[in-house]
Amino acid sequence: MAEAREILTEIFPPQVIDSDLAEVGRRLFAREARFVAGASEASALLHDTLPEIAFAGRSNVGKSSLLNALTGRRALARTSNTPGRTRQINFFDLGARLMLVDLPGYGYAEAPKTEVRRWTALLRGYLRTRTALRRVCLLVDSRRGITEIDHPMMQMLDASGVSYQIVLTKTDKLGACELALVAERTAAELAAHAAAHPEIHLTSAFKGPGIAALRATLGSFALAAEEPSTVVLRGRPQ
Ligand code: GDP
Repeated sequence: MAEAREILTEIFPPQVIDSDLAEVGRRLFAREARFVAGASEASALLHDTLPEIAFAGRSNVGKSSLLNALTGRRALARTSNTPGRTRQINFFDLGARLMLVDLPGYGYAEAPKTEVRRWTALLRGYLRTRTALRRVCLLVDSRRGITEIDHPMMQMLDASGVSYQIVLTKTDKLGACELALVAERTAAELAAHAAAHPEIHLTSAFKGPGIAALRATLGSFALAAEEPSTVVLRGRPQ
């Protein structure tokens, strides 16, 4: 068990958070989060107004639950046991500092093909053109790890050159050894992906671990209180 914990700490420095960053993240996510708009086609996408963090993952990965846990809201993003229900890009303004963007869940076997084509085009357009997009959190169920269902999304992210980061979800369902194994496997797989950030976040929306660390990481992308948004939104940062 000690070995598993060592592996986890070694591979995942974000689990050990700097207290200043943690405080920045805590304050940011204590601000009011509100739904701003949903877009089911490219023409309905909001204009960039704030730095954006997008959340992607297969249906039922725990995306709504994670957004709710991050923002401390029970029902900011709708959680459901019916996979594949959210079919639009949803924008949530976090305290006028950061836009949280909920991308449609993918990999729902029963989704009609025309629907899949529609949202793939929407997503591709969003990823390619969004200058305000700072990072995509790609959520992966810790019980499965990255699977072939995630590959098209990872390829799309690599091709768009959007920096993305794996967030393992539902870690409360695994023991430390199992978690260390899946985390190691995930880290090894990421090495082959150009746009993937090497750090992995391990989270449980239900039990809390990893939420503060993820808030701290995302806090570094938010506007500072005095910063005018037009300056920050010029061009995509590295
Ligand atoms: P989404 O489709 O990706 O938005 O997923 P949801 O947030 O609706 O969650 C899908 C299912 O996973 C629901 O049954 C949730 O109760 C469950 N779930 C989500 N997060 C966690 C978690 O951290 N731990 C556990 N044990 N279950 C979770």
